[in-house]
Amino acid sequence: MYGQKKCKIDVILGDIVEQEVDAIVNAANSSLLGGGGVDGAIHRAAGPQLLEECRTLDGCPTGEARMTRAYRLPAKWVIHTVGPVWNGGSAGEDMLLESAYMNSLRLAGEYGLRSIAFPGISIGAYGFPVERASVIAAGAVSRFLETGSTLTDIRLVCFNEIAYSTYSMAVDELFRK
Ligand code: ADP
Repeated sequence: MYGQKKCKIDVILGDIVEQEVDAIVNAANSSLLGGGGVDGAIHRAAGPQLLEECRTLDGCPTGEARMTRAYRLPAKWVIHTVGPVWNGGSAGEDMLLESAYMNSLRLAGEYGLRSIAFPGISIGAYGFPVERASVIAAGAVSRFLETGSTLTDIRLVCFNEIAYSTYSMAVDELFRK
């Protein structure tokens, strides 16, 4: 756990659908109409009303974010963001991943939220290298907090040990004083 300007940053090994936070972030695809991985898990846990609301949004471009209610989840909101598909690294993937984190954090800030939980955006089916993604995630959190915000609790929720140790190292590197 690290603190910066009254915000704690935790890397957690666990299931994002169980997080009791103001918002969980969904690593969605640009249709916002559901998919596999964490997207599938979130829709299953939230129930069919989540898909109904998502249908009204008309999708989401890569790097942007959209907010919905969270229905049966313990969280209050779901922030749907779309990370880049890894395509070798020279197609703007780093910038788009950074934008996915930044735009999710900004949206949380605009709603005055205090707590948010992220999955490892793009590191599953989208194939982004885990170490590189972890450095971008930690960097985005750090840069966002420099601007000041209502957030007091940011969680990076990892679903396996490798992701957990990789994201932990990235956060340690950046926030260790
Ligand atoms: P993407 O398409 O953005 O790569 P995925 O859903 O395929 O998204 O994977 C993103 C990450 O989310 C992967 O590391 C995957 O293991 C993880 N993941 C899958 N289910 C969950 C869950 N219930 N809670 C947290 N992380 C999850």
